[in-house]
Amino acid sequence: MTLGSDVSGLRTNAASAAAAGLSIVVPVYNEAAGLAALHQRLCELAKTLQARYRLACEIIYVDDGSADATLAIARSLAADAVDVQVVSLSRNFGKEAALMAGLDHARRGAVLFMDGDGQHPPALVEQLVRHWIEDGYDVVYTAKAHRDNESFLRRQAVHGFYALINWGARQKIPEDAGDFRLLSPRAVAALRQLPERNRFFKGLASWIGFRQIRVDYEPAPRAHGVTTFNAARLLGLSIEGLTSFSVAPLRIASLLGVALAGVAFLFGLSILWEVFTTGKQVPGYPSLVVGLMTIGGVQLIMIGIVGEYIGKILSELKARPIYFVAEHSEKSFEAAKTDDAASRTAAE
Ligand code: UDP
Ligand code: MG
Repeated sequence: MTLGSDVSGLRTNAASAAAAGLSIVVPVYNEAAGLAALHQRLCELAKTLQARYRLACEIIYVDDGSADATLAIARSLAADAVDVQVVSLSRNFGKEAALMAGLDHARRGAVLFMDGDGQHPPALVEQLVRHWIEDGYDVVYTAKAHRDNESFLRRQAVHGFYALINWGARQKIPEDAGDFRLLSPRAVAALRQLPERNRFFKGLASWIGFRQIRVDYEPAPRAHGVTTFNAARLLGLSIEGLTSFSVAPLRIASLLGVALAGVAFLFGLSILWEVFTTGKQVPGYPSLVVGLMTIGGVQLIMIGIVGEYIGKILSELKARPIYFVAEHSEKSFEAAKTDDAASRTAAE
């Protein structure tokens, strides 16, 4: 029995990459307004990739329990130069689960993840593919070129989050990296082998290693609608990421405990010293109450942090599926071509 995993057989070079093909995974949640336009652009992109690298593409739309017409529109999209799969989840499971569903259904070798709201420019994909095919990178991830349009507070929060999650980590998660990324066949194989249910995608994609490269880009404004990630949801995702990826919060809890105990010990010594040297006791109700409340508060926070981890263990133990697919349809480009030819012959 080996305890590691050998994915070297899936290594691609410039010659074999085209044969592997590319799956484009697009999670969509209430994106009805822009889906048809996005599909159009992706088909154009697929044609370009086909012409330049002889790369066959498929697009996988994962409908994450949308309440609008997203699913109906996705189903009606034509397989124009690409194969199209539509995977519809039984309810809204969240973006991470949708990405996982897409990864599970991908049939080509390499996988590209991109948002369904038009913020990830299809034009950039060519560059990502070039880094994979021509330069031999396995993980091509994108990062926001700057955060000038975000508030100071938010930037500091992001900075703090990454400082905490990367604290003591061997493989650092790059700051600002988004979910818009391309994985080579062997990176995909590696990612598929990670068994955990609580997923923090950016973290996992970085953790697997291989040759990684960063591409800076300027996200386009959302084509329509508003973001589903408000402050509360981002906070949730951060806690999720932190606790599923690092034990830094637990370490901080221990360190804080040691620090508090140390201060208390020194304080005790100083009181004793005072009693012995001056012989009088200092009345100190306020300091006592403050001390009690500090320790009580810190303990509650720490119990909360430990609770987060226990909750995580519980959900890993229950081992529920990450998502349920309610409906799955596919259209093959080859079949569409043959149908076309057949109907043309019939018309003649
Ligand atoms: N999304 C999803 N499930 C959700 C929320 C979002 O599949 O529960 C998809 C959404 O359709 C979009 C992508 O995830 O394609 C990113 O969502 P959004 O634009 O709201 O986030 P942001 O770009 O602000 O990070
Ligand atoms: Mg978006």
